[in-house]
Amino acid sequence: MFEFSQEVISVFSERSDGNMSLNHGDVSMSLENRNNFLGKFKINPAYLVCAKQVHSSNIVCVRETDRGKGAFNYETAIEATDALVTDQPQMALAVFTADCLPIFLYDQERSVIGLVHAGWRSTCEHIVKNTVKMMQDNFFINPKRLQVYFGPAIRSCCYEVEEKMNRYFSYGLQKRDGTYYLDIIEVNKAQLFDAGIIKYNIIDSGICTSCQNHRFFSFRKEGKSCGRMISVIMLR
Ligand SMILES: [Zn+2]
Repeated sequence: MFEFSQEVISVFSERSDGNMSLNHGDVSMSLENRNNFLGKFKINPAYLVCAKQVHSSNIVCVRETDRGKGAFNYETAIEATDALVTDQPQMALAVFTADCLPIFLYDQERSVIGLVHAGWRSTCEHIVKNTVKMMQDNFFINPKRLQVYFGPAIRSCCYEVEEKMNRYFSYGLQKRDGTYYLDIIEVNKAQLFDAGIIKYNIIDSGICTSCQNHRFFSFRKEGKSCGRMISVIMLR
C-alpha cells in the first residue's frame, strides 16, 4: 500500500495474499483471496473492474455500468484491454501481474485515476503514454501534476531477453556478459517524461519480483502456472 492522497486508495497484493487471478494459476481460492485482501482496505470486491489482459495498448475509460466487470467471473471482464481510466468514485480498477509492471496514475486536481498493465509488448506500443493522453483528452488533466507509482515488476537485474528485442526498443536494453536485459521501468519512465510528467511525481517501489520471488509471484521464475498479484486503485 502507498498513499497518493486521502482521496484515493492504491494497493498491491503479495504472494502471501494468494493468487488473485480467475484465469491463471490455481484459481480455486482466488475469490476468497480477493475478499480477504480487499477487505483489509475496506474495498468492496463487487466494485472491482477487471479486464481480459492481452498485452495490447487498448485503454478503456470505465463508466458506471462497468462496475463489477470481472469481479466474480472472468467471462464478464472487459474485453482485450490493458489499461483502465476513470473519474468515478468507488470504482476499483484492477490489473493482475506476475513480472509485468503495474503503473498507478492519479490526478488530484481533476480526481482522475488510471491503472496500466505494462508488459514489454504494451510498453513497446506506448501504453502508458497513450493512457496519459486519454486522461488529458477525456478529463483535461495536466500531466505536470499527474502522480505516478511503479509497482512490483521484473527489473533489469533479472529480465533477460533476446538480442532481437533491440528491434523493439531503441533504449532500455542493457548488455552484461553477452546477455541482454530489459529495463522496462526506464522505458516507461521515458514515455512518461515524453508525455509531460515531472520526474519528482514518479515514485518507484523498486521491487523486483524475480529477486524477491519469496514475496511476489514471478512468471519468469515459476512459469505458466504461477499465480498473479492484484493491483487496485480506487477513488473513495
Ligand atoms: Zn531482480
